[in-house]
Amino acid sequence: MTSFHSLELPEHLLRAVQALAYAQPTPIQSRAIPLVAAGQDVAAEAPTGSGKTAAFALPILKCLSAKSTPIVQVQGLILAPTRELALQVAASFRALNRFAPRTTRVLAIIGGEPIHNQIAALNSGVGIVVATPGRLLDLVASDDIDLSAVQTLVLDEADRLLDAGFSVELDRLLERIPPDRQTLLFSATLPQKVLDLAARVQRSPVTVRIDEVQRPVPGIQQQVYQVNRDRRRMLLQHLVKTEGWKQTLVFVATKKATENLAAKLRKAGLSAAALHGDLEQSERIFVLGRFKRGGVSVLVATDLAARGIDVPMLEAVVNFDLPRSTQGYTHRIGRTGRAGASGVAVSFVDHDSEAHLRLIEKKNHLKLPRAQVPGFELTGEAPVKVKGKAGVKGKRRSKKDKLRGL
Ligand code: AMP
Repeated sequence: MTSFHSLELPEHLLRAVQALAYAQPTPIQSRAIPLVAAGQDVAAEAPTGSGKTAAFALPILKCLSAKSTPIVQVQGLILAPTRELALQVAASFRALNRFAPRTTRVLAIIGGEPIHNQIAALNSGVGIVVATPGRLLDLVASDDIDLSAVQTLVLDEADRLLDAGFSVELDRLLERIPPDRQTLLFSATLPQKVLDLAARVQRSPVTVRIDEVQRPVPGIQQQVYQVNRDRRRMLLQHLVKTEGWKQTLVFVATKKATENLAAKLRKAGLSAAALHGDLEQSERIFVLGRFKRGGVSVLVATDLAARGIDVPMLEAVVNFDLPRSTQGYTHRIGRTGRAGASGVAVSFVDHDSEAHLRLIEKKNHLKLPRAQVPGFELTGEAPVKVKGKAGVKGKRRSKKDKLRGL
């Protein structure tokens, strides 16, 4: 088994992983760290919660610490599709680099926060930037950031960044980054289509796939409850109570539904909050922070929270509405069972959504157990299938959804 020592990390990084209680590298870390440290382009597919951040952060920090002069220009650039993920990745970099003999400043550049603070920070010399593409482009356009010294570019949740919603932004950023850089792609899902798109940003990449890909993380127990649409909230309350879940992340389909459901759960005596993209950035950080600290026990969210977000003690994920995309299922359930912990992933289904659930199972090579909870049994008839081209309900995304993937 690989140890962090055998990965030839400098002393200060070994101290940091020890302080974070990482006993040994995860499979993706063992595979990716030597490749990244050697300057290779890498496309890595590994399950959510498998330690991907440190798999690219450690070798990037290793390379920076080998330099003889202080790092005052942006040399490492990490792009993330959501602000929350960008903040989390920036925090990981800081935690891993805290024993470095020389400080390298790490800055998160995200929308929804005052731009002048970010400009001031950039002027004082930043070595690593973790950004969402939109705000970064604003700074590029106003010439407040210089990306000409970037040596390593990371696309975290690369499948999202490479899809249509971000492609124009990505192209404009790539014009500002030196072509002879190292480019790394990390995601839980890297289908061939995405690898084809990646060909324009990478040079002879090594593809790393970790075994459990697409299959459920072993620690996650998955269950489907068949329940009528209008009984889902009562069933959710019942489960939170009887299962004793202290922290539950509930996914719904729309921003409005997050607010409605959270309000109803609060009325029923649960401490619940809503998280969605229409909230001010400060509110988003506040709500997520409260949930992570245990100040809120049920967080009702859109798919904004499906990617990358790390809530260490999260016990249960509930698909109140099924994810629209089949890959969304993997991302959502990966919020629980992180770093070897156990967790439950529950999905609600009724007659109308059964066909879509089957599609999710097929695409993810899953067979999920169905059950009904006494008192909440599914009633009514399955709809008669009309021959022809009736689409699968909930599968089509609106134009805006397509652009932002929400
Ligand atoms: P990530 O996939 O980067 O979001 O990481 C998921 C969780 O695993 C985070 O809470 C990390 O702090 C944790 N983690 C990362 N690497 C290790 C490791 N080698 N051992 C134990 N936990 C880890």
